[in-house]
Amino acid sequence: MSFADLGLSDELLRAVTDSGYTDPTPIQRQAIPSVLMGKDLIGIAQTGTGKTAAFVLPMIDILGEGRTRALMPRSLILEPTRELAAQVAENFVKYGTNHKLSMALLIGGVQMGDQVKALEKGVDVLIATPGRLMDLFQRGKILLTGCNLLVIDEADRMLDMGFIPDIEEICTKLPKQRQTLLFSATMPPVIKKLADKFLTDPKRVEVARPATANVNIKQWVVPVAASDKRGMLRDLLRAEDVTTAIIFCNRKTTVRDLNKSLQKSGFRSTEIHGDMEQSQRIAELERFKKGDVNILVASDVAARGLDIKGVSHVYNFDAPWHPDDYVHRIGRTGRAGATGIAYTLVTPDDAENIAEIEKLTGMKIERVKPASGETAREEAPAEKREAAPRRGRGRKTEAEPRPKAEPVAAEAAPEPEARAPARPNPAASVADADAARTGRNRAASRAARRTNRTRAGTARCPTS
Ligand code: AMP
Repeated sequence: MSFADLGLSDELLRAVTDSGYTDPTPIQRQAIPSVLMGKDLIGIAQTGTGKTAAFVLPMIDILGEGRTRALMPRSLILEPTRELAAQVAENFVKYGTNHKLSMALLIGGVQMGDQVKALEKGVDVLIATPGRLMDLFQRGKILLTGCNLLVIDEADRMLDMGFIPDIEEICTKLPKQRQTLLFSATMPPVIKKLADKFLTDPKRVEVARPATANVNIKQWVVPVAASDKRGMLRDLLRAEDVTTAIIFCNRKTTVRDLNKSLQKSGFRSTEIHGDMEQSQRIAELERFKKGDVNILVASDVAARGLDIKGVSHVYNFDAPWHPDDYVHRIGRTGRAGATGIAYTLVTPDDAENIAEIEKLTGMKIERVKPASGETAREEAPAEKREAAPRRGRGRKTEAEPRPKAEPVAAEAAPEPEARAPARPNPAASVADADAARTGRNRAASRAARRTNRTRAGTARCPTS
């Protein structure tokens, strides 16, 4: 089935073609015809599936047929975070290029004045986060009685963020006769209740979770002691051909501290978390997208749904507390057909979280047994640490690129041992033997070899 079979207008088809998309994704195939027919819809899908276009495309055609630039907003899209709202707005600009629709982005963290001005001119599409929308309501700046089309996106995340009461209130301010589309990665009872209350005879479409079905993401669990996490992460980052990586932490303070520590170790990293000003977040994100930095340390909320193309690796520095977050986090890689790798550092305290994740995704994640080369140094007393070789702090010294297409068998085979220590590391031997046996576990064997080098005084990376 092609886009042309979905019932979209020629103008829209041109915009889709210009965007470089040839075939609709499963959620687009299933959702677009129903939305065009005016039906309510529950879409069980998450970011990475093409769900944004699944509602933006039919919305543009529906709104394009009506009276544009009406005085009251004609449609409303609710997003849990500012970044997601901004991303949806970008989609409207991209696909709406052949239509004359007006749009207002109502998000926190930016001046309200311009948003109010845009509202006064009249808009076809409002894209808002619940907090800012409620704020404008309370100030009497907005009327939603002309809003016949409502999208509640990422409903389960709205729940996590405590937005459900706001959403319920917002729904009561829209006309009863309207079309409502609700998207959610999961359907917990509260969201089901919300859908029962505010949707009428919805069509339900469900697409496979990218995280469970996406064979393009290679997932690893890395058991590690809590005190060794930073060293282990650095080892993993150095061991592979990391083009771009997102590193997730559970707390904002961890995001900040980890980013500082990575920068100190010579990595080109930046951070994004909920305590930053909106403008700052966007600026850092742009630096990452442009390639000024290649590592983004992020919290869940800040990174939710971000559409950053070509992320080669995702690292869960902290195992996520909620299994759904795992699915969302690793969904940043392996997008739209590309392959990706996801590592989750797991301390003994995280065992339960991992069990929950495996229950949700219905698969056992393979364990790697890397031995961290840095760990030994990190744990050593200060004077011993100083004795470790320092080879400068520059990126060049810390990350000598390995050949990209190194065959796995060669990886797993013992390295020429000229540099190997007299005293081999037992953990390294286990990892190498495993890797040799299974023909996988590349990071493990690399990390293990690095341990040996470090102990032999030939570490390539600077101390931190
Ligand atoms: P989303 O799930 O909306 O976050 O979209 C995930 C990614 O898929 C975005 O980079 C979209 O630009 C891209 N995308 C959306 N629709 C298609 C399509 N039909 N073919 C290829 N990529 C798409």
